[in-house]
Amino acid sequence: MFFNSKVVALLLAIVVGLITTAFLSLVSETPIQALITGGLISFAATYIFTFITFEFLVFKEISRIYEVLNKIRKKNFSFIEEEEDRQHRNPLKRINSEIFTYAIGRQREIEQLRKVEAFRREFLADVSHELKTPVFAAQGFVHTLLDGAIDDKKVRIKFLKRAAKSLDNLDALIHDLLTLSQIELGETKMHFEHFNIIEMASEVLDLFENKVERKGLYIGFDQEYNHPIFVYADAEKIYRVLTNLISNANKYTDEGEIILSFNVSSGGQVTVSVKDTGIGIPPEDLGRVFERFFRVEKSRAKGKRGGTGLGLAIVKHIMEAHYSKVSVISTFGKGSTFSFKLPLSKEEDLYSADDDEFGSEE
Ligand code: ADP
Repeated sequence: MFFNSKVVALLLAIVVGLITTAFLSLVSETPIQALITGGLISFAATYIFTFITFEFLVFKEISRIYEVLNKIRKKNFSFIEEEEDRQHRNPLKRINSEIFTYAIGRQREIEQLRKVEAFRREFLADVSHELKTPVFAAQGFVHTLLDGAIDDKKVRIKFLKRAAKSLDNLDALIHDLLTLSQIELGETKMHFEHFNIIEMASEVLDLFENKVERKGLYIGFDQEYNHPIFVYADAEKIYRVLTNLISNANKYTDEGEIILSFNVSSGGQVTVSVKDTGIGIPPEDLGRVFERFFRVEKSRAKGKRGGTGLGLAIVKHIMEAHYSKVSVISTFGKGSTFSFKLPLSKEEDLYSADDDEFGSEE
């Protein structure tokens, strides 16, 4: 049966009209015209009153609930804001609003849970895949040795070295995974302090100099920095960021140079950049290089250049913990520049700190 405000009003009006006429007919000598008029008036009044009441108070609200449920089903949440702001006097409308808000909240939670679940599944698959590679390789070498290769001294050394390298890769991967999960879980506490970023970058450069120069590359600063640049950050984590960025610049550069620069801005910040003349990153992948295990070209990056695929994800998290972010610009085939900003130490903070903390200045 089709129920709407018209049908309900009509039925009620007929019933009330008939009852009124029946009651009037009980009164003796009521003329027939009066009976008809009384019946019609009560019919019309009941119809109008019921129709308005149902149309504006009940059915309209019910159809709105359907409308909203339909929208939720179609994942169209455009109505949320309009609904949330309203404070209705009409109790039915208020109930409607509550239902809408509740339904939307649930829907959002479900969406969020779905995303987290998809992310978890993807992450698990990635981790298993990444762990499998070095374990299989090491396993293969060890089994080949056990199957007889151990008797040949040359092969023995070669295979043992390869097995050791695979295990080193596994160790690096587990180490990076632990670092990442600790940062994400908020277990890694940040130790903010004042330090000279130029001095730190020089240390990292020294660390890489031999390796980089053996490849025939140049590594250095864009200019001479005769004065220290003090920043307020977690020194250990920033050391890690610099190491990761310079290590990548070295890995993905076959010829040319790696240049570090520091630009102090009037806003009390310094932008640290690591620029290379390497293979670059295609524009479509630029936004994804900070994702876990993302590699521009999976086989090439893993085979020739190694790496856990977590370095930039760690860098991103560290910078977020500093309320900053790491950004990249790159021209495919020409090179990339990774930059991040750090707050400069305020002069008054430096003077109040112990001088020894900053090391010697030239
Ligand atoms: P990986 O361990 O593979 O280097 P990262 O998270 O450090 O993992 O980097 C993710 C991907 O971003 C790399 O696999 C590489 O494809 C790309 N990438 C990172 N740094 C550079 C760079 N300096 N030049 C070109 N590509 C880079």
